[in-house]
Amino acid sequence: MPFQTAVLASGNKGKLNEFKLLLAPIEFELRPQSHYKIHAIPETGVSFLENALLKARHASRLTSLPALADDSGLVVPSLNGAPGIYSARYAGTSANAEENNLKLLEALRNSDSRRAYFFCTLVFLLHSEDPTPIVAFGEWHGNIAEEAKGNNGFGYDPLFVAKGFQITAAQMEPELKNRLSHRAIASTNLIQSIQDRREQL
Ligand code: IMP
Repeated sequence: MPFQTAVLASGNKGKLNEFKLLLAPIEFELRPQSHYKIHAIPETGVSFLENALLKARHASRLTSLPALADDSGLVVPSLNGAPGIYSARYAGTSANAEENNLKLLEALRNSDSRRAYFFCTLVFLLHSEDPTPIVAFGEWHGNIAEEAKGNNGFGYDPLFVAKGFQITAAQMEPELKNRLSHRAIASTNLIQSIQDRREQL
């Protein structure tokens, strides 16, 4: 399965750098879709997997290159999985992270469980019609705190206390979070699956 370059179906610069580091063992060049002037498509799926597949196929179709896409968010079982795929826009399409966090605290006010996990899906396609996408998942489990704490990270990090820790993800050193996170776990799984596939072809 030879490939030297793949397009990352995301315009987020932070993500590009994070995936370059996490996926370094694959030894390929990862270019952002903005390099090819590709714009984000509407995420119309109902699961992280569907949205990641949509994004990867779109980027691959427009570049004729292998593509990598991710989709991630926070899942709270006692809220039927919310905010889930709507994590970025939980409190409205133009809501910021603070507003999303406040809405989550409000939603959990009378809840008897504050368990939650971050979920990440990664999809890798060799070409836009690839019938056997390589798919990897990562989960990072913990609880939602009673109040926001910490200034590192982004999104729901100030509310997320990972299992085995007393601090929120926003109070962790970035290096620590990047070793433990759902994206790190999914990346390790993706590397393994790509290497397994390579050995078969
Ligand atoms: P996306 O996959 O980058 O679109 O992430 C969707 C949303 O999920 C983000 O805007 C955040 O609200 C949330 N999210 C995903 N990963 C993390 C994380 O590592 N920390 C905090 N929030 C996250």
